Amino acid sequence: MTIPVSLEFFPPKTPEGAAKLRDARRLLYALKPEFCSVTFGAGGSTQEGTLQAVTEIMAEGWPAAPHLSCIGQTRESIRERLAAYSAAGVKRIVALRGDLPSGYGPGGEFRYASELVAFIRSETGRQFHIEVAAYPEMHPQSKSPMADIDAFAAKIEAGADSGITQYFFNADAYLHYVDTLARRGIRAPIVPGIMPITSSTQLMRFSDSCGAEIPRWIRMRLASFGDDSASIRAFGLDVVTMLCERLKAGGAPGFHFYTMNQAKATVEICGRLR
Ligand code: FAD
Repeated sequence: MTIPVSLEFFPPKTPEGAAKLRDARRLLYALKPEFCSVTFGAGGSTQEGTLQAVTEIMAEGWPAAPHLSCIGQTRESIRERLAAYSAAGVKRIVALRGDLPSGYGPGGEFRYASELVAFIRSETGRQFHIEVAAYPEMHPQSKSPMADIDAFAAKIEAGADSGITQYFFNADAYLHYVDTLARRGIRAPIVPGIMPITSSTQLMRFSDSCGAEIPRWIRMRLASFGDDSASIRAFGLDVVTMLCERLKAGGAPGFHFYTMNQAKATVEICGRLR
């Protein structure tokens, strides 16, 4: 496949999870990822796990990008984390606002991801390539589609290099979003985030919480399979491969796979795209 691929993981919580993730990564490295990113829990539970997973990936010979969310953080705590990432040899960061778990308390010294991007640039200059989140179907808290575009533009203006989108299943939403940004003079690469479909209930749960729309026809087909996980996976592979083909034809600069720490579906989709 000529189109670049990046892979997203979350920090495993148990030694078994860590071993499974190592196995999954071994298979996924066949895709020659441009980089592997590791999520960062705004609530705090997985923050050390992010650096640990990133360090392992780099030791395995691949570029790794820790996510860094600023909600609930102070300038000093972000400064310390940047120093740790720098000492570990990190060159790329996915900079986010994040979401605090309910009842977590005050939000810290940053309100928006654009403030984090500006802070990283002011502290470390051009040391890191900075990725930020983009929402072709609009972030659930944005006041309007244009406010959402303004929020993305603010992150680029603050110094971000490129965007990775929330996942979506409607190619037109992405193509229209990129077009709107281009008309505004924003030409930073916006890489579509791709969620392989491997389980119906998990997908519904995630999508409801992050505002990603599952088109009615996909919902209906998934519901019709009931517990038949083989049919769900086969249907999911067809749907997501078709989505990627449309995005590639529409000029997507790469794909960022939300692997969910699993290799099979991502490897299969990329194989079909070749
Ligand atoms: P922002 O860009 O700050 O936007 C948040 C909201 O504020 C939006 O509604 C925006 O319109 C609004 N806004 C922004 N600026 C302003 C302003 N100046 N005035 C008024 N409103 C404004 N979460 C994690 O906790 N950990 C992760 O590792 C993680 N990784 C992610 C990776 C990707 C690729 C994506 C797409 C999301 C990820 N998330 C992660 C989820 C993300 O943290 C949430 O979607 C969060 O709600 C918003 O983060 P953001 O960086 O997009 O925030």
